[in-house]
Amino acid sequence: MKTALTIAGSDSSGGAGIQADLKTFSALGVYGMSAIVSVTAQNTQGVDDVEDLSPKIIGGQINAIFRDIPVGAVKIGMVSNSAAIRTIAEKLKEFRPKYVVLDPVMVSKSGFDLLKPEARETLIRELLPLATVVTPNLFETERLVGRKVETLEAMRQAAKEIFDMGPESVLVKGGHLEEGPIDIFYDGTQFHQFAGKRIDTNNTHGTGCTLSSAIAAYLAKGLSLADAIQEAKTYIQGAIEHSLPLGHGHGPTHHFY
Ligand code: PLP
Repeated sequence: MKTALTIAGSDSSGGAGIQADLKTFSALGVYGMSAIVSVTAQNTQGVDDVEDLSPKIIGGQINAIFRDIPVGAVKIGMVSNSAAIRTIAEKLKEFRPKYVVLDPVMVSKSGFDLLKPEARETLIRELLPLATVVTPNLFETERLVGRKVETLEAMRQAAKEIFDMGPESVLVKGGHLEEGPIDIFYDGTQFHQFAGKRIDTNNTHGTGCTLSSAIAAYLAKGLSLADAIQEAKTYIQGAIEHSLPLGHGHGPTHHFY
């Protein structure tokens, strides 16, 4: 059985975070495991509250998993604060998983800080260098490089700059790009463009979580990184096309249809 581990935050409404990751792993036939970093009280309308777990129990969950079960790939999502980030980085260096997909989650669609702004530098310094691929959306890309990123050319330049921060590769997601939903991949030698299809729906809660966990699942299944990204894009497209009109805000992506 192929396996994957998500290190991320819990979304009580089940559309994003750990819950989206585990649904994605299951839908793709990969056995999912989780180390919870933070618990959010949220629904489709927004995040009401957050409580972070201690570094001790975050590290304890990761220890328990790696000491017992092979981990095919790791996905990292909401990491919340600097102490959590340092613990996760320490554990990744100790256990050296083959693949680490890092979704640098910063702010929810509803505007809630899922990463404390003062922890951004810690994320860049401690976690980016450990990633097989880092998957920022345009907003996160702008926060990483410190300026507006609004065109494909600006995305390519930003991908290069983020690559220089230490990850093995970068996928800058252009879901909100005016030129169309196009993602730019850069691995230090060449750029690759992944085109998508704009789907007209309000139900997009958890799309970033789902894409990054799908990449991790496909890597665990043995696909090359380029193929894993391509297949994950196809997967997220289906999950958005079949997204659910639940709740009063942004409904969730759907994994079993
Ligand atoms: N909640 C948690 C725990 C998350 O990890 C994320 C995104 O990564 C979100 C909420 C935000 O989801 P969205 O911005 O798609 O609503």
